[in-house]
Amino acid sequence: MDYIELAMKRAKETNCSTDTNFFQALKEVLVSIRPLMENHPEYKTQNIIERIISPNRAIYFKIEWLDDSNNIHVNSGYRIQFNNALDPYKGGVRFHPSVNPDILKFLAFEQIFKNAITGLHIGGAKGGADFDPKGKSDKEIMKFCQAFMTAFYNSLGSDIDVLGGDIRVGAREVGYLFGQYKQLTNSYNSIITSKPLALGGSLGRTEATGYGLIYFTQTLLEDMGETLKGKICTISGSGNVAIHAIEKLYDLGAVPVTCSDSRGAIHDSNGIDLALLKKIKLERRASLEYYAHERKSATYVKKENYVGGSSHVWDIPCFAAFPCATQNELGLTCAKKLIHNDVKIIAEGANMPTTPEAIEVFQSHSIIFAPAKAANAGGVAVSVLEMGQNNSLKYLSFEQVDRRLKGIMSNIYSNIKMTCDTYDLEMDLIAGANILGFKRVADAMIMQGV
Ligand code: NDP
Repeated sequence: MDYIELAMKRAKETNCSTDTNFFQALKEVLVSIRPLMENHPEYKTQNIIERIISPNRAIYFKIEWLDDSNNIHVNSGYRIQFNNALDPYKGGVRFHPSVNPDILKFLAFEQIFKNAITGLHIGGAKGGADFDPKGKSDKEIMKFCQAFMTAFYNSLGSDIDVLGGDIRVGAREVGYLFGQYKQLTNSYNSIITSKPLALGGSLGRTEATGYGLIYFTQTLLEDMGETLKGKICTISGSGNVAIHAIEKLYDLGAVPVTCSDSRGAIHDSNGIDLALLKKIKLERRASLEYYAHERKSATYVKKENYVGGSSHVWDIPCFAAFPCATQNELGLTCAKKLIHNDVKIIAEGANMPTTPEAIEVFQSHSIIFAPAKAANAGGVAVSVLEMGQNNSLKYLSFEQVDRRLKGIMSNIYSNIKMTCDTYDLEMDLIAGANILGFKRVADAMIMQGV
């Protein structure tokens, strides 16, 4: 058993014994960094794997809040401050019934390497609560956000740990979280990004993850002598990432034909009507079923009617597929359908949306696969621009942010490709991204001593 196998065995027996999502993320990274470990024996001497796979600090807290009828509710809140070798912890906050320590550990672990790949100075963290904003009144959401912040505000700081948005945490929730922090500390300390513009947010942050995903894909395709122009694309999700990916696909002349939510999927053969989608999901916060009511060219398939349990989105033939909803949403059955329909590229907008079995089959069919930690890093990159603007009080225009985002995504691709070339990995962008991110963090850890 070599050093990596031993480290995985130990992790499985100790800090991953019940954490299946975390172990999945950890295994993907460790298996692919083997060539790096062979070239850097000091990582073994420095016991770097064991040090990197354990969170520096995990904060678990109770959140008590009052609903509109004055009933008291209790939720569980978490912040995993995983690694700060590259400076302050940085990562989003997710409010969803599925949130638990395992999900947040996997997200925080991925965030370390994603942040490192951007080349910016930020460590990795993630937080959240098993609270569902769906169906709650605005006042209840405010009360919950205030209670969430009260429970752990003293662990935050603009040079300690900076929060951001994620699933079901958008500008409204960020505003309430930030407002409560200011109430509690009597200070303006930029402890959260993705803020509304009026609270010091950055132009272009809302669009950044979706736009960045498409910029990354565009750069990759250009490198292969291809383009997105005129190409049919399938997208899952209909939240922040999916909507802005669809918007940028249209800008580049592609034809996005699907989207989905937690209840079902839309296929619109004429191309997704973006204005209608925004109205339904961002203004009304309603189900996609209404999209099909208003659009003759669209079909709606309810989740319970998905064939073989795999989202209807992946039944549709396409050139490029962009999973932008949630973790492990694209499994082996979906992958086989996509391959059968001659897909050319998969680019992950969501975090770890593709299962290991699906990745394996894509790779064995030489389908280009752009992993989340590279392809969706645009959001965190613009969050760092937001932090810079808050510190300097100098604000950038939308065009300036967008240009910087495009440059960052293009650099991420070039650096990963260069890593692939160095280690003879051909187009294995997963291994290239993992090696690039791991090396930056490991080197910083070693330089700072034990
Ligand atoms: P949103 O909450 O805005 O949207 C999430 C979308 O996914 C919604 O359409 C939601 O449906 C759908 N969804 C959630 N769970 C499921 C499920 N089990 N099956 C099918 N659909 C589901 O989140 P974001 O768009 O911000 O985030 C999406 C992904 O991108 C997440 O993995 C997140 O971690 C990742 N990400 C986001 C970043 C950002 O800047 N926002 C940055 C980097 C990564 P419904 O409307 O019914 O809730």
